[in-house]
Amino acid sequence: MPDYRARLTDLRGRLRDCANAAGRRPESVGLIAVSKTRSADEVRTLAQAGQRHFGENYVQEALPKMDALRDLGLTWHFIGPLQSNKTAEVAAGFDWVHSIDRLKVAQRLSAQRPATHAPLEVCVQVNLSGESSKSGCTPAALPGLCAAVARLPGLRLRGLMTLPAALQPGDDARAPFARLRQLLQSLQADGLPLDTLSAGMSDDYPAAITEGATWVRIGTALFGSRPARPPPPGTPS
Ligand SMILES: *Cc1c(COP(=O)(O)O)cnc(C)c1O
Repeated sequence: MPDYRARLTDLRGRLRDCANAAGRRPESVGLIAVSKTRSADEVRTLAQAGQRHFGENYVQEALPKMDALRDLGLTWHFIGPLQSNKTAEVAAGFDWVHSIDRLKVAQRLSAQRPATHAPLEVCVQVNLSGESSKSGCTPAALPGLCAAVARLPGLRLRGLMTLPAALQPGDDARAPFARLRQLLQSLQADGLPLDTLSAGMSDDYPAAITEGATWVRIGTALFGSRPARPPPPGTPS
């Protein structure tokens, strides 16, 4: 296994440098280690090096891993597209959901959150690029969706998440993150008590931190490049 402790120390140093350069407190930038495709043993090694927050995209892949690591008391973030038929497992097993993009899913998560748990921490995912391949609600639909989600008793709306389009040469890496921050500020001005921007991955976290990211979601820069995932059934080759 790679030296995850050294990688973690190195990455945390970089996050701290980005925060300092942006005039922000380093503690205001949280690190989610994105552990999709990684084994429970790899997650355990990183957890033993001090990492507490982990992100997963696929419910079926995440649940056995979470079960195998229950003794560690880690915090689990669901960051992938969420189908209505998977909400019960997510509501019972995860601490955060970053990928709320429609009211129906939020209502189900709220109703299915076990009464013994604190409300599920959630972010609404925004699609800023307009690409139909990306999930997320449109900026126009955001105020209405956020107002409705904020009223659900089983959820606690914390802020916004985005997954920007791949950068093209000449693009301003900060632009989508600046836009996300402006959307958050406008919801705050409407009276919603939000404090979270979930933005920034291995390739773009410096720009996201400059624009106020409070969670960066990092896989490759910690674990190395991911093994290719088999294409879903029915994908033309
Ligand atoms: C895979 C994934 C990440 C991590 O991406 P890396 O480029 O490996 O850091 C972050 N967020 C989401 C939603 C992802 O699906």
